Amino acid sequence: GEVTSALLYLDDVSVTFDGFRALNRLSLSIGANEMRAIIGPNGAGKTTMMDVITGKTRPNTGTALFQARHDLTRLDEASISQLGIGRKFQTPTVFDMHTVEDNILLALKTDRRPFPVLFSKRTREEKERIDALLERVRLTASRHRSAGELSHGQKQWLEIGMLLAQEPKLLLVDEPAAGMTDQETADTADLLREIAKTASVVVVEHDMVFVRDLGVKVTCLHEGSVLAEGSLDAVSANERVIEVYLGR
Ligand code: ADP
Repeated sequence: GEVTSALLYLDDVSVTFDGFRALNRLSLSIGANEMRAIIGPNGAGKTTMMDVITGKTRPNTGTALFQARHDLTRLDEASISQLGIGRKFQTPTVFDMHTVEDNILLALKTDRRPFPVLFSKRTREEKERIDALLERVRLTASRHRSAGELSHGQKQWLEIGMLLAQEPKLLLVDEPAAGMTDQETADTADLLREIAKTASVVVVEHDMVFVRDLGVKVTCLHEGSVLAEGSLDAVSANERVIEVYLGR
């Protein structure tokens, strides 16, 4: 059934902050190699949902299973990251003073301190992995520049490349298109589609043009639960979604 086939399975998840229900019996499944867009007005619970999946917030009640066997409600953030769940926040956290390729190298070696990593010889395998990751995130031509010199969009891709170095099975991405040019936005949609060939991707996004470009199933959250789910056309034609977005 759904429990066993889904990569991520949330059922009846509630999170309460001081009596306020940020998530209210939320149920949602993400399949293997599925990309899903999560939309919903401010305060709908999108961030709280990501916090539950990554172990930053513990739900009061409900089920959160990864690969049908890992209970995310009982694991800490580090263990969840080890399972292959990566999260990209809106603000990139790259090392500005280091080159693009050194940022990728550091991401490949999270178990080691920066100095030994940067001053030791790269193995042939490391070089190949760095090359492949740079190619994937379209930064091969910028590999020797310091990360601080990159455009906003390129920094976002670099951070995505650093997350891909961990070979995630599920990548959570918070508003990747925010602040990007139209061309960068289109390239980001291509990049995420490409990533979804080997991993599942959950994208929280406000930019509906970008969501349309992604062309994936959409889940609209409101007041901590799923208001509507389906194609963007179906969701945006839903009466309740229209009411929520128009604030009536
Ligand atoms: P979204 O990401 O969809 O904008 P959030 O998950 O950030 O929504 O927030 C859902 C609701 O929970 C909001 O009303 C927010 O104010 C509240 N909330 C989120 N985190 C906390 C917290 N740590 N303490 C108290 N209230 C919170």
